[in-house]
Amino acid sequence: MNYKIDNNKLILFVNKDNIDKTISKTKKLIRLCDKKNLELVIEYDGVKSEDLDMIKTAINIKNREDRYNYIYDTVCKILDDRICNENYCEFENDVCIRFRKENPNHKNGCCEWKGRGKCKYLIDSVCTMKTCMACKLFTCPFLYKEKGIRQRINDYVLIKYFFNKNQKYILECSFWTPKEIVMKRLLANNFNIKE
Ligand code: SF4
Ligand code: SF4
Repeated sequence: MNYKIDNNKLILFVNKDNIDKTISKTKKLIRLCDKKNLELVIEYDGVKSEDLDMIKTAINIKNREDRYNYIYDTVCKILDDRICNENYCEFENDVCIRFRKENPNHKNGCCEWKGRGKCKYLIDSVCTMKTCMACKLFTCPFLYKEKGIRQRINDYVLIKYFFNKNQKYILECSFWTPKEIVMKRLLANNFNIKE
């Protein structure tokens, strides 16, 4: 990682040869900038990276709750775009691709589950909450087996580097849960991330 600290700024020099290594050092960057309250500035040389730009934005939000809000909303937007563009659950008449094969009477995909019933936020087969990251992240084994579709928590740099193991578990497993509640859980588990 090539950087210098000058006038309360950490200036990062990024080129095609060091870009991957630089991203892999994000936890170190967070630690350095948070400890000394430095603003992160990136000087690109012949390359650009959306991941690094998102990392920079998150690092420069110094209030923890505001930073988590940014991360949560940004990752949800990425997931929404993917779901919208790829339409991998292929709902038809409220029945998803998996249940068309396994049990065509089962409507609403995984928003309704045996034993658990129907999610209270599902009204007229539409999700009225729209902010549950765990639901957006979830892909069932059928999707992986039949279509090679899988999402993992560490696929997203803002989650991979900014949260510890407990927080990742919270993000991945808080199904059917409004963002405000997830945010409280994240802040309550805000102990240091290891490099
Ligand atoms: S993740 Fe699987 S079970 Fe859930 S809606 Fe999509 S295809 Fe259906
Ligand atoms: S919160 Fe999750 S389970 Fe509930 S309706 Fe929305 S996507 Fe479905």
